[in-house]
Amino acid sequence: MSITPLDSLAGVGPAMAERLARLQLAGVEDLLFHLPLRYQDRTRVTPIATLKPGREAVIEGEVTAADIVQGRRRSLLVRLRDGSGIASLRFFHFSPAQKGQFSRGTRLRLFGEARTGSTGLEFYHPEYRLLRDDAAAEVEETLTPIYPTTEGLAQPRLRALIVQAFERLDSGDISVEERLPDGLRSRFRLPALRECLDYLHFPPPDAPLETLAEGAHPAQRRLALEELLAHQLSLHRVRLDIQRDAAPELNASNGLASRFLTRLPFSLTGAQRRVLTEIGGDLARATPMLRLVQGDVGSGKTVVAAMAMLAAVAGGYQAALMAPTELLAEQHYRSLKGWFEPLGIDVAWLSGKLKGKARLDAKARLSEGRAQVAVGTHALFQEDVHFHRLALAVIDEQHRFGVHQRLALRQKGETGTTTPHQLIMTATPIPRTLAMSAYADLDVSMIDELPPGRTPVKTVAVADERRSEVTERIRNACLEGRQAYWVCTLIEESEALTCQAAEVTRDTLTEALPEFAVGLVHGRMKSAEKAEVMAAFRDGELDLLVATTVIEVGVDVPNASLMIIENPERLGLAQLHQLRGRVGRGSVESFCVLLYHPPLSDSSRERLGVLRESSDGFRIAERDLELRGPGEVLGTRQTGLVGMKIADLSRDRDLLERVRELSRALLEEAPEAAEPLVQRWLGDAAGRYGQV
Ligand code: ADP
Ligand code: MG
Repeated sequence: MSITPLDSLAGVGPAMAERLARLQLAGVEDLLFHLPLRYQDRTRVTPIATLKPGREAVIEGEVTAADIVQGRRRSLLVRLRDGSGIASLRFFHFSPAQKGQFSRGTRLRLFGEARTGSTGLEFYHPEYRLLRDDAAAEVEETLTPIYPTTEGLAQPRLRALIVQAFERLDSGDISVEERLPDGLRSRFRLPALRECLDYLHFPPPDAPLETLAEGAHPAQRRLALEELLAHQLSLHRVRLDIQRDAAPELNASNGLASRFLTRLPFSLTGAQRRVLTEIGGDLARATPMLRLVQGDVGSGKTVVAAMAMLAAVAGGYQAALMAPTELLAEQHYRSLKGWFEPLGIDVAWLSGKLKGKARLDAKARLSEGRAQVAVGTHALFQEDVHFHRLALAVIDEQHRFGVHQRLALRQKGETGTTTPHQLIMTATPIPRTLAMSAYADLDVSMIDELPPGRTPVKTVAVADERRSEVTERIRNACLEGRQAYWVCTLIEESEALTCQAAEVTRDTLTEALPEFAVGLVHGRMKSAEKAEVMAAFRDGELDLLVATTVIEVGVDVPNASLMIIENPERLGLAQLHQLRGRVGRGSVESFCVLLYHPPLSDSSRERLGVLRESSDGFRIAERDLELRGPGEVLGTRQTGLVGMKIADLSRDRDLLERVRELSRALLEEAPEAAEPLVQRWLGDAAGRYGQV
C-alpha cells in the first residue's frame, strides 16, 4: 500500500505529524484504520427525567439559578430545567465571566455524564453550548467516535483529520483496496472493507453500542480477522523463507543414542519417545526443522533436547543449546557434560561473562569443530562466535527470547550452504489457540506426561497472619533432611524494593531458624554470586533458599520439597505454576504454601483456587488466559507478535480457527493479496519479521 504523507493534510505540520507518529500513524491511509475506542451518543436530546446516573447524555434546558456554593470545595452550581425535571451543572474551576453566562432564563445544551450529587443528578464540568433564543441547534447525525489519542491532540482535531482522510478517499486521492476477493468474502461472510471503515468511524444513531463496546460488531470482527490474517501470513512467510534454505539431513545412527539411553538411570516416558520420533522425522529432512516442544515443568524436556543433539553429533555436526539465564544455562551445561563426556563428546561453555583465555578457547573449539556441543546464554549467537558445522540449535524457554533472536540463528549455519534445524522448548504451557497464532510458524510437539513416581505438589493457601506456623513447617521439613524455598514476589514493579524485602525475610528467617543454613538469591546480585548460592543449595549446603522470582524457570533440586510463596496474589497463575514446579521433583510428597495477605479479592481467591485444585499446566494456562487475557499470559514481548491494532487475542479467540482457514484459502486463491495485506497491517514490522 502506498503511503500518503500526513503533512499533505491541511493543518498538519511537523509537530502534528510527530504526535500522529506516536499513535503509530505514518500516513493518511493509517488514519482510516485508527478506530474509535468507544462512541458518544449526541444524536438526541434526553429529557432530564429519563437520565440515568453513570450514562452520558445530551440535555437541553433553561437556567433557573447559578450560585457559588461552599461545600467541601467551592463550586459554581447551575440549575437547569427542561419540561421534565431539573439537573445541575457543577464547576470547580470557573471564571466570573463564566458565571455571568448563566443568567436566569438562558437556554443551553450540554453533553456529559450524569452523576448522583448532593442536589440530585449533576454534570461535572460538562461540555456545554449556549442556545440563541429560537435556535434549535442541530444534534449530531452520527454517533461521536472517541479515538485513542495522545498529548497535544484533542478529540475534535483528530476527528477532523480522520474526516479529511475520508474525503481524500472519496475523491480518489488516496485508496485502500479491498484485498479479500469477493468469493472469499461471501464464503466467510465478511462485509466489505470500505463498509466496515465507514460504519466504525461514523456509526448511525441506532448502532448497537453494547455490541460495539464488546468488539463484537461484524464490522469490527472483519477488521480483526483481517489483522490476524496479516499476522498469520507474515509468520508463514518467515517460515517459508527459512525453509527455502537447505538443512543437514541428520539420520546417521552410530549407536550414540542407544549408548546414551542405556546409561540413563531411567527410561523415557511414552510422551518423550513420541516427541523424539517427531523430531527425528524433521531432522532427517533437508529442510530446517522449526519445532516447538511444549512440556509442563518437570516433564523432562532436557533429555529430549539431548537426544536431538546426539543426532547432530552422530552425523558429524555440531549442536548448540541456548538458555535465557546464566543460571539455567549452567544447569544445562552440567547435565549435558555429565551425559556426553562419557560418550567422548566435547561440550563447550560460553556465556557473556566468560572472558579472556577461557573464552578464546571455547570459541576456537567451536570454530574448529573440536567441540561438538555448545551450551550457553545468548552469548552463543554473538557475531564473534563461529561454528564449524552447526546443524541444530536448541533454545530453552523460548518465551524469553523474541522471534528476532531466534531467527538470528539462521546465520549460524556457517557451512555457507545450510541453515541449522531449530528446536524450541518451552515450559510455559501456551493454550492451543494462542500457540497457533503466537507460534504459527512452528510445528508443535507436546510432552503431555510426567515421568512416573512424581507425587503432585499439595498446595494450600494460608493467610500471612499464620506466618509462625509456616516457619514451623519449614523447620520440620529441614529436620527430615529436606530443603525449602521461600519466594518473595515483586513489590510495586520495583526490583529494588523486592530485593530489599527478600533481604529482610532472609534475616528474619535466619533468626527464627538458627539451626539451619539460610541463603538468598535475587536479581540484583552478580550472577557469579547467584550461581554460588544456587550451587550451595543444590549441593545441600543450604537448607532454605530465600529468593525472588529469579528462580522461576528450570532450576532442578529434587531434594527440595517445600515452597512458600509470599503474596502469591501478585503473580499470574502460569508463573505460580512455574514456581511451584521447583518442588515435587523427587519422590517425596511436596508442598506449596501460598502465603497471602488478607483480604483477598474475589478474583485472587478464584485464581489461587485454580492452583490448589489443578496441577495441570495446560488447564491452568487456559484459566489464566480467561482470567487475565493473553498479554499477561504470554507477556507483551513473548507473543512473537508485534502489537495488534484492532484484534484482541483474548476477545477474538474464536476467530483464530477461521483465520487459519482463511489464510489457507487466500494463499491458494489469491496469493498476490498476501503481501499487500501484511504491509497494510504490519508495515515496517513485517520487514523486521522478514529480514532476519
Ligand atoms: P523440564 O521439562 O522442566 O525442563 P527437566 O528436563 O529438568 O524438566 O527434567 C526434570 C527431572 O526429571 C530431571 O531430574 C530429569 O533427569 C528427570 N527426568 C526426565 N525424564 C525422566 C524420565 N523419563 N523418568 C524419570 N525422570 C526423568
Ligand atoms: Mg527445563
